[in-house]
Amino acid sequence: MNLSGSLPRPGGLTTAMPAHGLDKIKFATDAPTWGRALALYENGKITNFKSDKVGYSATVHGGHQYHVFVSAHRYDEGSCNCYLGQKDTLCKHMVAVALYAMKGGDPLNDKEKQLFKDVKAVTAAMSGAMRYIKPYNGPSRIWFAYQGSLRQGCNRLSVIISELPVSEQTTELLIKLLLRLDDKLSRGGVDDSDGTVGGFIEETVHALEQYAKLDPACTKAFRLLGDRETCFGWEEPLLKLTRNNPKTTIFGASDGSYGGR
Ligand SMILES: [Zn+2]
Repeated sequence: MNLSGSLPRPGGLTTAMPAHGLDKIKFATDAPTWGRALALYENGKITNFKSDKVGYSATVHGGHQYHVFVSAHRYDEGSCNCYLGQKDTLCKHMVAVALYAMKGGDPLNDKEKQLFKDVKAVTAAMSGAMRYIKPYNGPSRIWFAYQGSLRQGCNRLSVIISELPVSEQTTELLIKLLLRLDDKLSRGGVDDSDGTVGGFIEETVHALEQYAKLDPACTKAFRLLGDRETCFGWEEPLLKLTRNNPKTTIFGASDGSYGGR
């Protein structure tokens, strides 16, 4: 399984807007907003695009003409005179202009489209794979088939994970996945005698360590592990990273009760 070798690099997509990763935009935007923004972009509804050090401005042609500004530092900071924009809510027009700033009007390539599978689709695919990781209650003669099912589930999950962009949102998704697997191992009756699921958990933890190196913001999602007791202490390397990163306070006033050695 090639987890760490195939991590997509958000920064490598384009140099037009290095501060905004396409993946960050996608994974921080709900699916309908993203879809509408992409449609505006692909249908050439953005005109008068201008950029300077402060940010990007453009006119977006939707139901009306909207005047949109997006900060160069944060794609979700800016303004738009539409209904949502006036309420300081990230609207499809701002997302469309952020997209334009990154891609300069070029169509998204296949790889980028692949990257932007809907978060819902990713979650659904993960749930599908999880069904292979089921409790064992059959007779001993089907034990090998059962172990094969666990392998099948883990392989499917690995493929899904290898296509995810590195971001705080995907980190959270993966941590939740690991906690669900942990639950299956400790309480769900999964017989992991071959260590398939355990091995998969370790590999994913390793991938998450890489995530943290590539984007330190990812460690924020590690706080979900703070109050858990897991089946074999797999979370320890990740908690260690949050302890090493003073910017991430996960225990509040830390009393050192988390394995402080
Ligand atoms: Zn708007």
